[in-house]
Amino acid sequence: MFNIVIFGKPGSGKGTQADFLKDKYDLYHISTGDLFRKNILNKTNLGIEAKSFLDNGDLVPDIVTIKMLENEVTENKGVKGFIFDGFPRTSYQAEKLDALLTKYSLNIHLTIALDVDNETLIERLLNRGKSSGRADDQSEDKINKRLREYDKKTKPLIEFYTKQNKYKSINGIGEMDDITARIVNLLDNYLNDRG
Ligand code: ADP
Repeated sequence: MFNIVIFGKPGSGKGTQADFLKDKYDLYHISTGDLFRKNILNKTNLGIEAKSFLDNGDLVPDIVTIKMLENEVTENKGVKGFIFDGFPRTSYQAEKLDALLTKYSLNIHLTIALDVDNETLIERLLNRGKSSGRADDQSEDKINKRLREYDKKTKPLIEFYTKQNKYKSINGIGEMDDITARIVNLLDNYLNDRG
């Protein structure tokens, strides 16, 4: 198995890159943001519970998020590997993810972070908001809140994965294809070394 986390601030391009990587490396893509939005659209109980958090730019409570993630992994554990996009986002989620994977004799191999400055992110997200219809992309206040949530709750994961020697970051600014090439280079080197 080959399991990776794609990591970065809101708007850093995690989803776009994960979409490409899942095909190239035959990975099962789990995007917690997409799962929440699907549930909101279908008005499931989970969607009803999560909606206000997403709309306001807050993180959904760990207990809800972790349960959804655990279901998704358990239902798909026969795949060649997972690409986690938007999860983990808190230290508690990271610990729970390790515990879950360990239960199935699996682990995270690499965490790839896309580095992008806040100014570029705000511009990208406001732009995305014009067509995505996402409430959380349409106001600079909400975008700033998400960036603050990241600093407070998600940034500590850099240390978590660095300690495990799994954290790699790449420059997330530039042409989309160039950014993809940077990630592919990193992953291919890892896979070659692993043999
Ligand atoms: P972005 O990276 O642009 O914020 P996502 O689709 O990854 O977009 O996430 C959108 C929203 O979904 C988040 O602001 C949050 O409300 C919720 N969400 C996604 N993943 C998580 C998570 N791991 N924990 C808590 N909330 C999450």
